[in-house]
Parts: sequence; C-alpha cells; structure tokens
Amino acid sequence: MAQKTNSGYQGKILDIIKNAGCKIGDIILVEKEDRIYEGTLIPRSEYSDNTHIVIKLKNGYNLGIRITSETKIKKIGQGIKPSFTVPPLPKQNPNLPKVVILSTGGTIASRVDYRTGAVRSALSASDLYGVVPELSDIAQVQTEIVFGIYSENITQTHWSELAKRIEEHINQGVDGVVVAHGTDTMAYTAAALSFSLQNLPVPVIIVGAQRSSDRPSSDAAMNLLGAVQIAGNAPFAEVAIAMHQNLSDNVIAINRGVKVRKCHTSRRDTFKPVNASPLARIVNGKTTILTKKYLKRDPTKKTILKPNFCEKVVLVKFYPGFDPKIIKYHIENDVKGIIIEGTGLGHVSKYCFEAINTAIENKIVVGLASQCIWGRVNMNVYDTGRDLLKMGVIPLDDMFPETALVKLMWVLGQTNQIEAAKNLLKTNISGEFSPRTLPAEIYKQGDFKDDN
Ligand code: ASP
Repeated sequence: MAQKTNSGYQGKILDIIKNAGCKIGDIILVEKEDRIYEGTLIPRSEYSDNTHIVIKLKNGYNLGIRITSETKIKKIGQGIKPSFTVPPLPKQNPNLPKVVILSTGGTIASRVDYRTGAVRSALSASDLYGVVPELSDIAQVQTEIVFGIYSENITQTHWSELAKRIEEHINQGVDGVVVAHGTDTMAYTAAALSFSLQNLPVPVIIVGAQRSSDRPSSDAAMNLLGAVQIAGNAPFAEVAIAMHQNLSDNVIAINRGVKVRKCHTSRRDTFKPVNASPLARIVNGKTTILTKKYLKRDPTKKTILKPNFCEKVVLVKFYPGFDPKIIKYHIENDVKGIIIEGTGLGHVSKYCFEAINTAIENKIVVGLASQCIWGRVNMNVYDTGRDLLKMGVIPLDDMFPETALVKLMWVLGQTNQIEAAKNLLKTNISGEFSPRTLPAEIYKQGDFKDDN
C-alpha cells in the first residue's frame, strides 16, 4: 500500500524526495532536461498523481515538475518552519460581559501558510482572540479548543460533546457562549444545539468564516466580533448563527439556529434565514434587535441538557425516477427514522407508496419536508398528499429538510416509543415551526424590517 503523508506526496515520488534528503519547506534544486529550477518544496493535494513535485519559485509562483528517471533533485537549503506567532493576549476589562469562545475548527480557525501556499488548521480559540484584539473592548474572553476539525467531519457524537461543554460553561456563569465552527455543516450543528440545549439562560452564538483569518478579504474578525458582542449583550437566549449579511464588510446578521441555511459555496453572506427573519443585525458595531418574539436572556434559568442523538435516521430526496428500493434498503438496515425530501407541497410518486407503507409498518418514523426549502408543506391539497397522510407520514410544515433530519435524530435520541417520538417531532421546540411566513421572509437576501 502506498505510504501517505500530510504533504500529499506518496509512493514513488515520496521515495524520491526522501532519498534526496528533502522535506517540505526545504529549498531544492531540480535539474531536468538541461534546465535548473530552484524553489521551496511545498505540499500538494493528497489526490495528486505520483509523478510530480511542486515547488514555490522565488517570484512566488508555484511550479509542478514531472519527475522522470533522469531528473535530479538536490537540497540546497534548510526548510524554514512557518513563522506565525500569536500576539500576547490583551488585558481583560472586569466590567465587560464574560464570553467563552469554544473552537471546533473550520476555516475560521485556519491560516494560509504563505510560504507553502497551503491552508492549515492553525488557530486555537485563544489564537483567535490574539489576532482579533478588539474583542477585549467588548467582552472578557475565555477560550477553549473542543475539537480542531473541518465541519464536514462533525458527527452526532461531536454535537453531544459540544452541548455538554456549553452547558458546563453556562453553569460556571458565563454571559454568553460563542462556538467557532466550519461553515459547511454549521447549520446542522446550530439545529442540533437548538434541540439539545433548552431553557438557555444566555445566548449560544455560532460563527465561522468563508475566508481564513489572515486573508485580506477574510470575514473571520468581523464575524467573531459580532458573535461575541451578541453573546455578551443580546436580550435573547437562543442558539443562533452570526455571519455576514451581505457583501459589504459592516453588516452581521444573527439568525435563529433552526431557521438558517448555508446557501452559497463561497460568498461571505452565505447564511440566509429560511421562512424567518433574522433575530438581530449589527451595523458598524451597533446592534438592532429585529423581533420581539424570542426567548429572553435570564441568568436565573437553568439549562436543560438533552444531548442524545440517534444515528439511525436518514434523509432521502425524492426525484423523478427515484428508486423506492432506496427506502427498502434503509428499512433492512434497521433505520429508526426517515425524513423524505418530497416535491412541492409534500409529494412523492405513487410508486413509492408501498415502500413508505412498509417503513411505517416497521415502526419507522417517517416525516416529510419539502425540497422547495421556502414555504410549507400542505398535504391536504392533492390526493397524493392525503394518501401519504393516511399512511401515517408526518407533514413537517415549514421546517426545511436538514433541520427536520437533525430534529428526528434528536427526537429518537430522547425516546424509542413511536407515538411519543411522533408527538415530539410535531412539537415546536426551538422555533423550528413558524405559524406564518411574512412576505419579507421569502428568498430574502438583503435588509429585513422589524416584524413586530
Ligand atoms: N470545509 C470547511 C468547514 O466547514 C469550510 C469552512 O469552514 O467554511 O469546516
């Protein structure tokens, strides 16, 4: 089996590098077909081939060189290790609210190594504090690393552990909690924490960045400042996400954890509220609370921790030509819950009915959310919907599929009694169901008006 390293080099090419006595960061000379190249040996993608090395030339460009049996590689200089050192932590002002920043990883906790060109997870929570010293003007900040992973690697076990750590910090008397997290699955974690941390006395604000904190266009510092400001001062005590509201660098939107979704792969204003308005907005450092409908901050409240999640829950998207054997497969694999992402008002083709009915007969909880994302399911309009309702499929109103999935994982982590699970799935726990959707809450990209 090919040897693997963090550098992305493996197999034959790794042997050639090692035999030449070279390491990542070393300055090397490569002699090939009467040409000589000089540069720093840098890491490559782990999916790269077995025949090229990549060097950073003195002019800053990266160059891939195919290595043949005639190519000679020689080390001419010692590798310099990345030189980033964290600045000393700023002084704490005892009159400011106490906020803990828990770091879980993601781009917000990454730096580009400009010498090698790679993005690496390099910042702990206290490093983040060190590189955004303005935080000390808005809160007394405490920091802790809970994990150091990209959010695509977060599982139900991480959600449980994170919820427990948050509860411990709240019990120790912080005025607010900030969770630094990768953006990819941030909304799932936000939903998970919204269900697992109930009766919160203080806010829990999740924050991330689309660009690492040392890039000129980074959103990390501004998002973090906004998150800490809200965590320490907001009148509400809910789980929410604080990220750029638009492309300008002065507006942060704070959206409820069960009603927000990552909607753009790369833009900094990627998080949009779905069927909801933001809880608050910060413009140039000034907070405006946009609704009166929130759970109030109240330090006398005691958090109710419910950190269990069932892993045997799946999300199944219906599409034209969908094969109902996929549902049968899940039944055979002993799943306990299925969220179907149906079409429009809440439909799947009739040829799927038999498989869905079998799932329900096997005591699997089946919920239906719409793949439209915006709007709500109404399964009474067409006979397809009515047939599914009759079968026992639970309509999930305006809860969008990912929140529905996390909620069913959480529900089945609380009870294995089928009727109790169905009732809990239908109960509004953290604002995941809204009684009505305002016109301004549909596809809204920009400013929101007060909805009072
Ligand atoms: N893949 C990264 C993550 O979710 C992207 C990010 O942090 O924005 O951890």
